[in-house]
Amino acid sequence: MHASKYHINTLKEAPSEAEVASHQLMTRAGMIRKAAGGIYSYMPMGLKVLRKIEAIIREEMNRAGAIELLMPVVQPAELWVESGRFKEYGPELLRIKDRHQRDFVLQPTSEEVITDIARNEIHSWRQLPVNFYHIQTKFRDERRPRFGLMRGREFIMKDAYSFDRDEEAAQLSYDRMYEAYMRIFTRLGLEFRAVAADTGAIGGSRSHEFQVIADTGEDLIVYNPESDYAANIELAEAPCLIPERAAPSEALQKTATPDAPKCELVAEQLGRPLTDTVKSIVLATDPVEKSEPVKIWLLLLRGDHELNEIKTSKLPGFENGYRFATEEEIVEHFGCMPGYLGPLNTRKPVNVIADTTVANMSDFICGANEEGYHYTGMNWVRDLPEAPVFDLRNVVDGDPDPKGGSLRIQRGIEVGHVFFLGDKYSRALNATFLETDGKPTIMQMGCYGIGVSRIAAAAIEQNHDSRGIIWPRAIAPFEVVICPLGYHKSETVRNIADTLYAELQAAGVDVMLDDRDTRPGIMFADWELIGVPLRVTVGERGLKDGVVEIQPRRASEADRVACDAALNHVL
Ligand code: ATP
Ligand code: MG
Ligand code: MG
Ligand code: MG
Repeated sequence: MHASKYHINTLKEAPSEAEVASHQLMTRAGMIRKAAGGIYSYMPMGLKVLRKIEAIIREEMNRAGAIELLMPVVQPAELWVESGRFKEYGPELLRIKDRHQRDFVLQPTSEEVITDIARNEIHSWRQLPVNFYHIQTKFRDERRPRFGLMRGREFIMKDAYSFDRDEEAAQLSYDRMYEAYMRIFTRLGLEFRAVAADTGAIGGSRSHEFQVIADTGEDLIVYNPESDYAANIELAEAPCLIPERAAPSEALQKTATPDAPKCELVAEQLGRPLTDTVKSIVLATDPVEKSEPVKIWLLLLRGDHELNEIKTSKLPGFENGYRFATEEEIVEHFGCMPGYLGPLNTRKPVNVIADTTVANMSDFICGANEEGYHYTGMNWVRDLPEAPVFDLRNVVDGDPDPKGGSLRIQRGIEVGHVFFLGDKYSRALNATFLETDGKPTIMQMGCYGIGVSRIAAAAIEQNHDSRGIIWPRAIAPFEVVICPLGYHKSETVRNIADTLYAELQAAGVDVMLDDRDTRPGIMFADWELIGVPLRVTVGERGLKDGVVEIQPRRASEADRVACDAALNHVL
């Protein structure tokens, strides 16, 4: 590719709404352009990155025996009614009507359609196991689409669905996908961690998330470096961290104000009525705008959905991550006793969790239900009624793990998620096959998602500096850029640059030759912003000594390499 014939349009400034590095840098590098909130055009170089990510995923999915097909973005509502998710999914599911007033949805995932396919196509145990996948546009009407490709409304996901004869076989399919995901994220060149996870809106009983380690990640993961324990903090059954049950406190009842206003705010944010089990919630939000102060809302709820008290306050000391507020702080800032917060909190420190860094995107929630269980989690709007159970007071970086060693906390970006679904969808849609004994038997399912477009953003969150993106080579828009100094002025420079370009192309390297004749400073800045991992500078000065300069994107200095050794050096 020659730069003069390609579309390159870098920007000095990022849009003011771009809060995180990936959003800023992808926009500045000209890889994405916004069409609407959470909806982007993938510009040529951004699309190249996505295609490379897809290619790796495809190869590994095929290697693991999965079979590619393509399901529609627009899906008939009937199937979603059958599974129960037409109602259940909440406002994230975009529902549309056609000209005949028939209901359709834009797919956020494809369990319904694939289960419909399976029930029509699979009749016998001989056809199992089978695992279908596609790489397709998804739509989720996220409450707060932000951070560019990280949390889009329209985005690209690879989703796979396995069908098996029984649970044991389904477990093998799950394990095969888990292994494939390990290979995929290793090949993508990302530092990641697989963690036990909550099953969320997809449902099912067992799941793991694949988290790219990055300070700007929305998720908190807890792990023990000395064991294989690693879990998303949202998770209910984190094995060594299950909270003790506490007797329900009477404090909540005592302090309830009968004539309190209705809690419409929360219900509205939830997009549905509150459930009776929610007795109290403490939630903290990070600011939408940088200038906005951090708000900690204290919402005291009763089972009948009445709001007893709502206060907004700012607690100091949350600047660098989360911590626990003390009883005194709660009294001072909210003017009430921590006992208001619910059963588990009537003792010692109160579980207020907050994070004030703008980069930390999530809304956190913690609370307690009437059994004394704690709710914590992100995406609380979706998660609340089934919110996982967790006692945050266990979880401070460096805390001892009851099973030995100590627990560490890291931030992660969820890029992949594998679920063991069991018969949740196959039972609802009656997807059966005939067993060896001739009996119709419900299929066991698993589903496996990877956020293709989110991976591009996550790679940048993990790999960038003040000058721009630093792509892992496997997914860089170009692996190498040749920057000739005076391409149109010096025949020697042009010859060497053209020769090296042809050699690299012949060797299968994705190479860009910058023949735009821009000033070196501007040319270098462009490619540093775009994040090409290797730059070869061809200039008359070096050529006098028979060398070109080869500089990895992370290095502060270039290697002087003899012209005839350049090809091997790059390979
Ligand atoms: P999150 O917790 O970030 O909202 P999720 O748990 O809702 O994600 P899944 O239903 O597990 O997402 O979907 C599988 C994968 O799709 C996720 O692991 C993630 O990589 C990707 N994904 C989900 N939502 C988005 C989004 N809004 N934008 C981009 N990628 C997304
Ligand atoms: Mg989600
Ligand atoms: Mg999630
Ligand atoms: Mg998930």
